[in-house]
Amino acid sequence: MQIFKFGGASVKDAEGVRNVARIIDSFGGSNVLVVVSAMGKSTNALERILEAAYHQSPELPAYLQAFKSYHDEILADLFPEEHLFGRIDVQNLYLELECAIDNANLRHDYDFFYDQIIAFGELISTRIVSAYLLFTGLRNQWIDSRNFILTDDRYRDAKVMWNETEVVVNNRLRPLSEKNLVIAQGFIGKGPNGENTTLGRKGSDYTAAIYAHLLGAESVTIWKDVPGVMNADPKKFEQPVLLDQLSYEDAIELAYYGASVIHPKTIQPLQAAGIPLFVRSFTNPTLPGTRVDQSSGQLQQACLIHKSNQALLQFSTRNLTFIAENQLMQLFTLFNAHKIRLNLMQNAATHFTCVIDYNENRLNALRLDLANLEMDLSVTVGLDMISVYQPSEGIESRLPAAEKWVMKQQTDRSTHYVIRP
Ligand code: ASP
Ligand code: MG
Repeated sequence: MQIFKFGGASVKDAEGVRNVARIIDSFGGSNVLVVVSAMGKSTNALERILEAAYHQSPELPAYLQAFKSYHDEILADLFPEEHLFGRIDVQNLYLELECAIDNANLRHDYDFFYDQIIAFGELISTRIVSAYLLFTGLRNQWIDSRNFILTDDRYRDAKVMWNETEVVVNNRLRPLSEKNLVIAQGFIGKGPNGENTTLGRKGSDYTAAIYAHLLGAESVTIWKDVPGVMNADPKKFEQPVLLDQLSYEDAIELAYYGASVIHPKTIQPLQAAGIPLFVRSFTNPTLPGTRVDQSSGQLQQACLIHKSNQALLQFSTRNLTFIAENQLMQLFTLFNAHKIRLNLMQNAATHFTCVIDYNENRLNALRLDLANLEMDLSVTVGLDMISVYQPSEGIESRLPAAEKWVMKQQTDRSTHYVIRP
């Protein structure tokens, strides 16, 4: 069996959905489990809806209407008016979404309600894709990934409970997937109390890897709007080169530092089971793309990875005292509690510096707790991080001018530059 993953860009409009159906059909339309994420930028649209609900903004109804109209237009384009294919399920999901928003108490527990609401992007997209496949004659089984991907309650970044997940996948999904073309949501799961959880933004690749690992798939293919894994993001750097082969180790490093083409958690479950990963173009599905596996040798090429929206935090002790281990311990406890992930860190005699993905709410919560520690914090926002994996001669000439650098750091096989854009 093969696992396919189609991201938001591949199903951003009706033509995208038709293209996805053609690709699935070209593989015979069976013995495939297809993971689909929310259409286009609809996860961002749901985040905007949440923010509007949180701030009790008068824009909320308009944002909701735009979200529904976007999907309604795709439905109208895909199906003749007299066909109810997909429409009944989607209408019902709109209603459920609206009730979930009405019932949310975002001020009480933002992350919990975030997951209850954000999951609707995937639920709706998979209903539409599944209905369209059926409409074109491709029989398929829509499944709810919340029945199979069982997680803890770390909302917005839930951890998979592998043992429990394995049991339901073996008992319930395996027999289904052996006989049917299966359509499943990426990104979403179920928490200990039956509530929605999500695996972290862009987590659908990870869902594909989890299913592949547990079902012993022969391969995973992530269909993207780029020809495969490039040595630099084509939207940020000139003359990127396609990497036709990559080892799991190199892929993990590239994804970890922010190469957005593969979600960082995707590789490990595949590596553990020796399942190859293909990254291929949905606009040019005959091209071979990139193959990630264990036999590929070490990458020789320099890779440039760009991450925007970074914040540099500098913690300093008061009265020039040295940073003590117990202060670092307390800081790390706070990072963990507020789900702040450190992309880079450095320590000096009287201060500790780190670079994180900027998130206003989490940073504010950290600031509040910091009042108890004998430390001051200065924050610089709006930075970019460029990581060069396998640096080579002359590579710095491809980066922004040195006057813009705020921090440079070497780790293992990479050099990282934090830059004012
Ligand atoms: N729809 C989710 C997101 O945009 C998950 C995914 O795309 O993989 O973050
Ligand atoms: Mg998405």
